[in-house]
Amino acid sequence: MNEVNRMNNKKKLSLPVQILIALVLGIAVGLVCYFMDAGEFTTNYLKPFGDIFVNLLKFIVVPVVLLSMIDGIISMGDMKKVGAVGWKTVAYFLCTTAVACVIGLVFANIFNNAGLFPTLSLEEGAVWDKATSANFMETLVGIFPSNMWSAFSASNMLQVIVIALFFGGGIMAAGEKGRLCKDIVSSFYAVIEQVMNFIISLSPIGVFTMMAWVVATQGANILGSLVLVLLCAYIGYVVHAVLIYSMSAKVFAGLSPIWFFKEASAAMIFAFTSTSSAATLPVSKECADALGADSEISSFVLPLGSTINMDGTAIYQCVATIFLASCAGVQLSVGQMITIVVTATLASIGTAGVSGAGMIMLAMVLTAMGIDVNLIMIIYGVDRLFDMGRTCLNVTGDISCAICVSHWEGKHRK
Ligand code: ASP
Repeated sequence: MNEVNRMNNKKKLSLPVQILIALVLGIAVGLVCYFMDAGEFTTNYLKPFGDIFVNLLKFIVVPVVLLSMIDGIISMGDMKKVGAVGWKTVAYFLCTTAVACVIGLVFANIFNNAGLFPTLSLEEGAVWDKATSANFMETLVGIFPSNMWSAFSASNMLQVIVIALFFGGGIMAAGEKGRLCKDIVSSFYAVIEQVMNFIISLSPIGVFTMMAWVVATQGANILGSLVLVLLCAYIGYVVHAVLIYSMSAKVFAGLSPIWFFKEASAAMIFAFTSTSSAATLPVSKECADALGADSEISSFVLPLGSTINMDGTAIYQCVATIFLASCAGVQLSVGQMITIVVTATLASIGTAGVSGAGMIMLAMVLTAMGIDVNLIMIIYGVDRLFDMGRTCLNVTGDISCAICVSHWEGKHRK
């Protein structure tokens, strides 16, 4: 029996391998069609399957954002029990994530202004929602929904976030009486996670068909652009790690940055290969404790961080949004960039610490910015490569927070 299981396991390729094969096949078929001038074939017969995949992504994004954000807020509810530690932790998470967004936007703009991001000739170009380019006060009024259902049906992500904040806060405030609601949210979230996993398992089909279509209609140059957008995100990841985590290790906890990264390296490598902050938790805990974090504090900060603290994901979302806006020929104003910082920071609260979750949240940021979600397929094929770096950064941020909060609470063992 075990032998049979082992043989079945051997035969089934893991999802990342399936996606890689789909990516290579998609590029190959796309190049053949491009040189044979058969772009129309891919538009008529391959792209529709990719469209089905993107429709499923769009369908899942509202329930995922709503439930994961309420769930994230409820998990912050435990903060009351831990008092100052909780607030310091959340403040650290929010500040570093906002800085991560700014770093992502700076590098994405440098690349974009240097003409390194392409503008594609898209037949059904990206839709720019004029409402998001309205003045600040109108935007502010617009994020408060007058009708919950219309926010859901229009996929107005900023309104969905506000609804989640209200319900999360309400459930926490209701205490024992809100218990049923809390359990219903957790139960629905568990179900929606399964649906999300199923949709993600269809990625190879989406990647193959969309990659073939993009390459067949845009030519081989698009591949160079993918390398550039990856490079841009990785520069952002490295700069954030070197600047922010070195600085907080040194300034807040009095640690040598080199020692910090040396001790954190086991978790960083594990996160890089597993692409899951949640799966890396046991290793992060060991690293944080080896760096002198208080065990009780790290037991609180690290699981919370793996649910709501995603600096790498924030950088990726900012870089990807600017890249895809450029592909669609949209230039974003400073006001719209500020909206990206706010949306991506909030999105990081809603991103689950599992492989590929940041991509679903990218769909949310794009929707909030009025940019066509279909464009995600341009970078979807290489998402795993983005994910490796962003998870590594996410986990490093959690460890640095555990050490800083231990220090602030006077419990850091150096
Ligand atoms: N994989 C990331 C993590 O676990 C989340 C993401 O996809 O951005 O931290």
